[in-house]
Amino acid sequence: MSAEPINDLSRLCVHTITTKPWPIEVAAEQFAKAGVGGITVWRDALANRNIAQTGQLLRDHNLSVVSLCRGGFFPHTDAAGRQAAIDDNRRALDEAAELGAPHVVLVCGAAPGQPLTESRKQIQDGIAALLPHAEAVGVKLAIEPLHPMYADNRSAINTLAQANDMAEELASTHVGVAVDVYHLWWDPTLEAEIARCGRNGHLYAFHICDWKTPTLDFLNDRGLMGEGCIDIRQIRSWVEATGFTDFNEVEIFSNRYWSEDQAQFLEKIKHAYLNHS
Ligand code: ZN
Repeated sequence: MSAEPINDLSRLCVHTITTKPWPIEVAAEQFAKAGVGGITVWRDALANRNIAQTGQLLRDHNLSVVSLCRGGFFPHTDAAGRQAAIDDNRRALDEAAELGAPHVVLVCGAAPGQPLTESRKQIQDGIAALLPHAEAVGVKLAIEPLHPMYADNRSAINTLAQANDMAEELASTHVGVAVDVYHLWWDPTLEAEIARCGRNGHLYAFHICDWKTPTLDFLNDRGLMGEGCIDIRQIRSWVEATGFTDFNEVEIFSNRYWSEDQAQFLEKIKHAYLNHS
């Protein structure tokens, strides 16, 4: 069974990195003008700004602040590096609270000099160390599994099963997962694992874009919905079958699209969202 087609933009969220050339003030104005319902803020977009005022500016444009991206990068081969990561994640939680974002998305990290099993342990320990602060500031943490091509240095959490296992072991009201079709579309257990995190109340976020063939750059050649091989509508149906009614977040890193006129690109996003998501 596929999901119902999307008829309006009320559940469309766009990540600030998707339209990276725009400062966040311009993004807010343009997203609002385009009828976009939500915005996920990347931390670099907040540099040299008053974060609370920026959050207010977004809400003044009728944009829901969906997430703050991103924390994580817990594993390091030395203790000082691991502690610095925890300190930085604590700052990310503070920033999310100031901004008014309900959760911080975690790109969990991996240290090339150590086994993935050790990195996973450090990730779990790092998240556990943050939990008291997350609860104190009222901001949740969303573990985002990354495609295995990033297992060397960006994330040792590569499947939704691993993220679900970790969220369940941490057993906190403040830890869940983020499902990104780009990272997870290939996984034969995806439907079951989406159902599992939905059952547990752990499904915090849903990210969409497409996987192009060929992909020319590991990081910055994501496609617009409909440009690649991901059955986004099918995956959205699994997400919605859990009762998820939150935003569909368009997260595209693309050297090609960043070099285009961003207003035209936003029109393409709207079209792709309504026709291919
Ligand atoms: Zn994502």
